[in-house]
Amino acid sequence: MTASQTELVFTRRFCMGHRLISGCSERCAIPHGHNEYVTVTLIPGPTAPKQKRLDGHSNMLLPFAEAKGRWHRFIDERIDHSFQLSEADPLLTWFEQNEPQRLERIVVTPGDPTTELMAALLMAKLRAFLKEQGDILMPRSLEIKETPTNTVRLHGDPAHYIPLTQRPAAQCWWNRADDSTRDAV
Ligand SMILES: [Zn+2]
Repeated sequence: MTASQTELVFTRRFCMGHRLISGCSERCAIPHGHNEYVTVTLIPGPTAPKQKRLDGHSNMLLPFAEAKGRWHRFIDERIDHSFQLSEADPLLTWFEQNEPQRLERIVVTPGDPTTELMAALLMAKLRAFLKEQGDILMPRSLEIKETPTNTVRLHGDPAHYIPLTQRPAAQCWWNRADDSTRDAV
């Protein structure tokens, strides 16, 4: 008989804008947006209680509500209606110089902000939140549904997937357990 394991899956919808400037597609270089869904699957982390049976009273071994609340606050306040730009995109400089009050909703990515990259960056951010909450939970997977027919799903450690940057990993926004979506310059 195999042991049971709980997984918690939750989904949040958000709107976003971006553009891809590396030259792959002329259409994608024009700023445009998508209505996306991010779905995360959490499993017990390194410090989860070893007890496997619900206690018959609270019947809750894992702090799912806390994890979900922190995550959805970040998605609602920083990713919903965000504009996602490569750190090489001159539009970023334009916002810095002309509308710095809107930088909170700018997500800055190492290279083009593709759905693949955003899935990895968001999964790293989720790991940082969960680590700060005591490592009782960890992400098993994260997926972004970009269109009804196109989903990117990432498993495992996103650190192996994210492009290398000049900055040490600990300084990158996606590894910090705060609401940042870009690094101070
Ligand atoms: Zn797009």
